[in-house]
Parts: sequence; C-alpha cells; structure tokens
Amino acid sequence: MSSHDFDLLVIGAGSGGVRASRIAAGHGARVAVAEEFRVGGTCVIRGCVPKKLLVYGAHFAEDLEDAARFGWTIEGKRFDWATLRNNVADEVDRLNGLYQNTLDNNKVTTLLGHARIIDAHTVEVAGARHTAGTILIATGARPFIPDVPGAEHGITSNEIFHLPEQPRRMVIAGAGYIATEFAGVFHELGTDVTVINRSDTILRGWEPALADRLLQISLAKGLNFKLNCRLVRVEKTDAGLVLHFADGKSIETDVLLWALGRVPQTEGLGLAEVGVALNDKGAIAVDADNRSSVPSIFAVGDVTDRVQLTPVAIREGHSFADRLFGGKAWRVDYKAIPSAVFSNPPLGSVGLTEAEARNAHGEVRVFTADFRPMKNVLAGRNERALYKLVVDASTDRVVGAHMIGPDAPEILQAVAIAVKAGLTKAQFDETMALHPTMSEELVLMR
Ligand code: NDP
Repeated sequence: MSSHDFDLLVIGAGSGGVRASRIAAGHGARVAVAEEFRVGGTCVIRGCVPKKLLVYGAHFAEDLEDAARFGWTIEGKRFDWATLRNNVADEVDRLNGLYQNTLDNNKVTTLLGHARIIDAHTVEVAGARHTAGTILIATGARPFIPDVPGAEHGITSNEIFHLPEQPRRMVIAGAGYIATEFAGVFHELGTDVTVINRSDTILRGWEPALADRLLQISLAKGLNFKLNCRLVRVEKTDAGLVLHFADGKSIETDVLLWALGRVPQTEGLGLAEVGVALNDKGAIAVDADNRSSVPSIFAVGDVTDRVQLTPVAIREGHSFADRLFGGKAWRVDYKAIPSAVFSNPPLGSVGLTEAEARNAHGEVRVFTADFRPMKNVLAGRNERALYKLVVDASTDRVVGAHMIGPDAPEILQAVAIAVKAGLTKAQFDETMALHPTMSEELVLMR
C-alpha cells in the first residue's frame, strides 16, 4: 500500500470521472473523487439527460396535433413549462442520488468543493490537502461565451433547464448540436425561435444532405434562421434584449442562448504551476493512455477535447482504470463512433460522410432512401426522412450511415454495429426487410 492518502484522486464526478473511480475501486484501489457542483456531471445534471426529457416533452405538441388524423379528439390541451421543468429537475435529482450511491457502494470517498492541484501527488479540495499516487482530471468542458459587449445577458445550456418561465421569443446563437436541439424543443413548445450562425450552414461537419433536410423542415415548421451573420452587441432594454448585427440589422428577443461550442474546463486547477501541458485547443494534452505531461497526472473526457461525447468519456475512464489498477491494458477505439442530434426531426450518423469517404477511399458508391414515413403520411405531415449509405467501392464495405427522420438515433445505434463490424452492402441487401418499418429502407437501397 502506498504512503499516499489515496491510490487515485479523481477531479470531476461526471461521466468519465465516475466510471474511472468505480472501476479503479473495483480493482481494489483506494479512491477519492472531488466534485465542486453535483455528482453526475454535465450529461446527467445539465446536458444529455434533461435535454432528452425536454425533447420528449416537446414532441407531444406535434403528436397531439397529429392525433386528430388518427381519430382522437383532445380538448383543452395546454402546455405548462413549470410542470415539465420541475419534473425534469426531480428526475435529475434522482439520478444524482443514484450516481452518489454508486460512488458510496464502491467505497469511493466523495470530496465536495473546488479542487486545485498543488504538486504531482497533492490536491487541495475546499482547503484540505490530500495526497494520491495518481491524479485523474475529468473536469469536462463549459459553454463558450464570445467576447461581445453585453454577452453576459445571454444564457447557456447550464441555465436553460431552470428558466422561470417559457420565453415568448428566443434567439439561439450557433447551429451545432445544442442549438438545433433546443431550437426544436422550444419551437415545439410554442416559443418563436431564431437560430443565428456565423457560417452559411447548420450542423457543419454532418452529411450536408441531412443538414440541409433539417434546415428545410425547420423552415417549413416556422423556425427562423439568420445565417452568415456576425453578432456585434447585445443590448438590454425594458422590452428584453436587442441583438445588433454587423450588417446594421437587429433582432429583439426575450432570451439569448449561447450554443457556440464547449471549451475544456482547465482554469483554476493549478495546471500551469504543476507543469501539465495544454494543446493548441486549450485542452489537456494526453498520450494514447490518457497520460499528461506530468507522469502521475492523467486526463479523460471533454477536458482533453478528443471527442466530446459521454460514452467516449466513459470508455476513456474505464480504459484508464483498467490499465492502471486492473492490469488490463486496452485502448479506446475512436473509429466509427455513432452520434446523434436530437433535433426535430432527429439525426443519427456513424462513420464517414460521402466527402470524407471519397478522400479516404477514392471511389465510393452512395445509396439514398428519401421517403415519407407512413405515420407522417396519415398525419398529413409533409416531412420526408432521408437515409444515406456510403460504400467503399473497392471492398463493398459500408463505411458511413447517415439518417434523418423519426427515431433516427434509435435505429442508428443498431446500424452502427454493422458499420463497426465492417459489413458489406451485399450483406445489408441479404438481410430480409422487417415490414412495415422505416428502418427496412436500410436493406432496400438499390
Ligand atoms: P458545436 O460545435 O456542435 O456547434 C458550434 C456552433 O457554433 C457552430 O454552428 C459554429 O459555427 C458556431 N461557432 C463556433 N465557434 C464560434 C465562434 N467563435 N463565433 C461564432 N460562432 C461560433 O457546439 P455545441 O455547443 O452545439 O455543442 C458542443 C459539443 O457538445 C458538441 O460538439 C458535441 O460534441 C457535444 N454535444 C453532443 C450532443 C449529442 O450527442 N446529441 C448534444 C449536445 C452537445 P460553424 O460550425 O457553422 O462555423
């Protein structure tokens, strides 16, 4: 047993930190985890989980509208933001408790308070110093707020779950994951939503045909977009906020949401003093085994800015703990990581876009299914789904699958197994269709 207080001290009880703590403790290590906010991290407390619950809540708006075509009469329907907000908050509290139980049941010591690294083996939490053989930084990322006058009048995804009331008008700055997801939620709830973005596209990096489909459907639903714009000033007035743009135009709104990306949370940890190097993105630089420039200090998850997704952070934390405390050396495989945007309708994607595949493989074959889901047809809802398979022509392997349409993320997870396994287009085609489903289109693309 080492002379340190703990074998492992983890900073940050989010997805990566909790998994690393639990696995290391399971291997017999004496583990502590420091957390300055709430156990559970971004995903559970103010990210994926409450967001998904809002997505469910918002989608009733269209379901109830469509219900009439299926014979249902729903009188007096009305939406109450406070009910949804409070119920989501209760669920977050429940999960927060479960995460705490996981730590307690695994005999992981929780240290509440801000952590600062004093030297390669010492961390100070809320004024008390603790030593550890190994330190793991899993502090995640925080929303980026741009340097424009009045930026402080905007809110971020941290605050949006606690809005005192549903805004009548909302402007969302950015057009990535967070922007498109909350645009879908608040538009469905009845807020007048405008998405503003610096470039002329939404969801840059996604298969362009799908991003364009989301844009077209969103426009048809009545969302507003101001692309290719530069916000220069936010002014607070008695009527709300006025956003001033470089082109001289302005927009009035009640709430401004910053959704311009997330930056690694490295401040206040004492990293420079102890010699932990950052990379050019401001993230903690780590090697393939998550080790920083200080041999006893490691980092996983968003603070390393490799792939900002919860399941990736969890796997990095698991791999770290297995390697250091379980004698099991394995590394995270970053190829073919599935990803989804819970917009309305949602998108799912795994592997290469058509352009990426052309760069990587030269000749590719592309298959698309562009169809109106059966439910939308009867509902009289003119929204088409779009599925796209990208195939390496020389091997026939499906190297990318991209979908927009109802339940696309649910379907995509299963497709990701096939893409990860390197299955060929011929094997997709050999698979019997499951009728009538939307996903049968995946095996019917000729
Ligand atoms: P994204 O990186 O998805 O999108 C950022 C948006 O902000 C883009 O539209 C980009 O414009 C714009 N932008 C970036 N920097 C600036 C700047 N300096 N000035 C003006 N505009 C800027 O970020 P999000 O905040 O939406 O999400 C952060 C990350 O969190 C995601 O990348 C994802 O990894 C993760 N996440 C995942 C979710 C999921 O899995 N469903 C849900 C939510 C978040 P453009 O690219 O057009 O130039």
